[in-house]
This record gives sequence, C-alpha cells and structure tokens, in this order.
Amino acid sequence: MGKYTSNKLQIYNTLTGEKEVFKSLSEGAIGMYVCGPTVYSNVHLGNVRTFMSFDMIFRYFKHLDYKVRYVRNITDAGHLENDADQGEDRIAKKARLEQIEPMEVVQRYTVDFHNILNTFNFLPPSIEPTATGHIVEQIEIIKTILEKELAYEANGSIYFDVLKYNESNNYGILSGRNVEDLIHNTRLLDGQSDKKNPQDFALWKKAEPQHIMRWPSPWSDGFPGWHLECTAMSTKYLGENFDIHGGGMDLKFPHHECEIAQAKAWHNHSPVNYWMHANMLTLNGQKMAKSTGNNILPAEILNGDNDKLTKGFSAPVVRFFMMQAHYRSILDFSNDALLASEKGFTKLMEAVSSLSKIEATKDANDFDAIKWRSNCYAAMNDDFNTPILIAELFSAVKYINQIKDNKASITNSNLSILKETMQQFVFDILGLENIATNDQNNKLGATIELLINMRNEARAQKDFALSDKIRDELIGIGIQLKDGKDGTTFILD
Ligand code: AMP
Ligand code: ZN
Repeated sequence: MGKYTSNKLQIYNTLTGEKEVFKSLSEGAIGMYVCGPTVYSNVHLGNVRTFMSFDMIFRYFKHLDYKVRYVRNITDAGHLENDADQGEDRIAKKARLEQIEPMEVVQRYTVDFHNILNTFNFLPPSIEPTATGHIVEQIEIIKTILEKELAYEANGSIYFDVLKYNESNNYGILSGRNVEDLIHNTRLLDGQSDKKNPQDFALWKKAEPQHIMRWPSPWSDGFPGWHLECTAMSTKYLGENFDIHGGGMDLKFPHHECEIAQAKAWHNHSPVNYWMHANMLTLNGQKMAKSTGNNILPAEILNGDNDKLTKGFSAPVVRFFMMQAHYRSILDFSNDALLASEKGFTKLMEAVSSLSKIEATKDANDFDAIKWRSNCYAAMNDDFNTPILIAELFSAVKYINQIKDNKASITNSNLSILKETMQQFVFDILGLENIATNDQNNKLGATIELLINMRNEARAQKDFALSDKIRDELIGIGIQLKDGKDGTTFILD
C-alpha cells in the first residue's frame, strides 16, 4: 500500500451520480478499462482531452502506489457510422474511399494515435487489445446470451432484446434513460431494420456481400456489434467485475449502457464498480467532432497551421491548458485561452527550474510545506481536481519567487518537501514536461543569431580573441556553432 492510499480518494461515479470514497476490489490493485479510439481517421484534440484525463488518473493511481492494470482498446472493426446499428463500418468505408485494405487504415491511424500520445507525454496502457483480435470471445458471449433468450436471431444477425432484459433488469441504470421513452424516440429512425424493437442493439451483424470486414460465425459471415468488443476485452483482462470503466461523456449512452446490459445478460454480474466520464472539448461552443469538421488536429496546434490560431503551442502548454479544467467540466478551446495557459506554464516552469538554486536558511521559515503538500493531495483526492491542484502549485510559485527575491525564507526540510512534491505533482502526475515554449525558442534563436553576428563582426575586424570567446562560451552553455559555406548555424546539445 502506498503512503497516501489511506487518504480518502473520492471519485464521482456516474452510476450513482455521487462522489464516493474509492475502494478497490482487491487491496492495492486497480483494474481500469477505457474505451479507445476508432482508428479510421486522425484523432482530434477532443479525443486527446479524454485520453489525457484518464492518463492523469492512471498517473495518480500509480503515484499512490496502486498496482494498476490499465486496458485501453483499439476499435478496429464493428463501429458503424450511426449509433442505431446502421450505415457502413467506419473503417471499411475509409478503406473503400481510399482503395486500400481496411487493415491499412487501421495501421495508419493506430500509428498516428500512438505518435500523438507520445507527443503529449502519455504513459502507455498495460494492455492495448483490438476488437478484431477478440472475435472468438465475442462469438462465445453471444452464444450464452442467446441460450438465456435475451437475444434473438433475425436474418443472420443477432440482436439484444432490450425489453426482455428490462423485465428483470434496469436498462437505463447508467444513463437514466427510460425504455418507454427510447421506444418512442427511436421508432421513427429505424425504418427497415430486422429488429423486433427499435431500441434493441446488434451483437452480430450479417455482412452485406460488398462488406469486406467479415468473419465466420454460427449465424452468418459478419462482424460483431461495437458495444460487444468492450465487454469481451474488459472481462477477458480485468474479470467479470472490475474497478473502473472510463470514456468520454458521449459514450454513456448507448455504448456503456449496452455494455452493462450485455455483461449482466452474460454472467449476471454488474461489471463495473465506478463508471467515470470525461467531459468534452468544445470549439465555438460546439463539441469537437470528426464528423462535423468542427475540430483542431494536434499537428495544427503544434505548428499553428490553422486560421483559429495566431501561432503554434508546444505539447506541454496544451497539456497544461487541459489540466487547468476539471475533467468533468466542459472546456472551450480558444487561442486566447492557450496564450494565457502558455504564460502560466512558463511561470510554473521558471519557478520549478529555479528551485535548484534556492538556498535554505537555518531557522527562518515562511512556508509550511507539509500543509501545502497535504492541500495538493486533498485537491487530487477530491475527484482528481486538477484546477485546484494547479492553484496550490501557484501558491508555491509565489513563495519560490519571494524567496528568490530575498523577501521570504525557507528551512532545509521545507525546501526538500517543496522540491519533491513539485516534481511529483508537476511532472509525474500532471505529466508536464519542462521544454521550452515556442515563444522561448524564438527568443533563444534570435539571441544566438545576435551572438553569431557579433562573432562575424569580430572576425571581420580580426579580433579573434573576441570571436573565439563567443564560440567557446556558447559551447560552455551547450550551444555549438557550425561554420558552413552558407553561414553559421547552431545546434543545442
Ligand atoms: P472515438 O474515436 O470517436 O470513439 O472517440 C474516442 C474518445 O474520444 C471517446 O472516449 C470519446 O468520448 C472522446 N471524444 C470524442 N469527441 C470528444 C470531444 N470533443 N471532447 C472530448 N472527448 C471526445
Ligand atoms: Zn468501449
């Protein structure tokens, strides 16, 4: 058990609508499943936000010394264009449009996803399973649900019988939706389906002749329904009942509601103890989404190549911007908000960097580091409240700056708590990295250019003592000048 696991970590559980004191099923260990991306196009910043919220949560659990098995899947089949089990498979459609194999689409966007997450300093999950790697498991689940007569076959497809399930269970337990309302609202949308009732959902779909992604099954050559993959993979790696299931708010219904129904129909257990939902990143007040084009891609924010941006922002600044909001609050993206985050991030990094130069005083002390550290934990223990944590970090920044200006003092023991806690919360838990912002890079580049020009002038006047001094002192601080036929360039060690 970690030293802080006894502090009461509270998690907001969507299932009960309340913050609850977290207790893992098995002491010191946590099983966490998070729905991964459907890899049919580049992830946008909205997707990044949801995965980042769970990366921060994963990091905090690890910091608390829990042994975490974090499973985040890759959806590489079965996600249709529309949630009512209609339309083309998203990946198959992309493959058809680009005239490539569906698995080429999957490969391309899985690589893109991993690159983006690396850029934003994500920790890899413990297991990253794919839907197509678990077709056998999905077929076995369907067989059991059919035996229990909670699903039925129609024309080679298998549908989950929501009304029958609801006779002895509560379909709507997570989302608060009522089956009667669902019947009323979905009937019109669902013209020519094989379903007995419009709110039923597909466990298996028979493939049309032109559908390329297909697997044999006892009922037809076809493909599994989207919801089923997560039930199959979470159960396989975490068990029939596990601690935490996460995803974006928009997955609560129907995806997660259906996961609960399938699992209970299959093995009679409520699968998940804590359901966690991360809120949306919006742009102009509208949810960022692939389908509407209302989104910003990670590459665009990094290089500034988007008319909504006045410049590019570094990955840690974007991460800091996202961490400044609570994961359950909507966050609206804007250039101005990013500019403000960049200022805050720079101030935080300057303070952290200056910590190594601060000298402790023997007896005078103006900073209660133990109390401050406990406030940092209290913020995180209150449902991962990163904005409050950041406010606490800035109260320490204020002290650091006062100490630097000789307006305050700190003892050795307080200083070492301050250093260790800053390191842990800023880098290990929030996942920030101390790399120069674009703005700082620009200023650094301009300064070195200035020195190169001064060195050139010195050389022109045959003042080699000065030109060598400039070159050598730059080497001393890790900047190497390279003289070439097109002039002098520099590299940073
Ligand atoms: P998808 O690849 O569409 O299945 O989405 C992957 C994850 O990103 C899911 O957890 C979604 O809930 C989440 N997501 C999609 N759009 C947004 C958004 N605008 N803001 C935050 N999360 C989002
Ligand atoms: Zn899922």
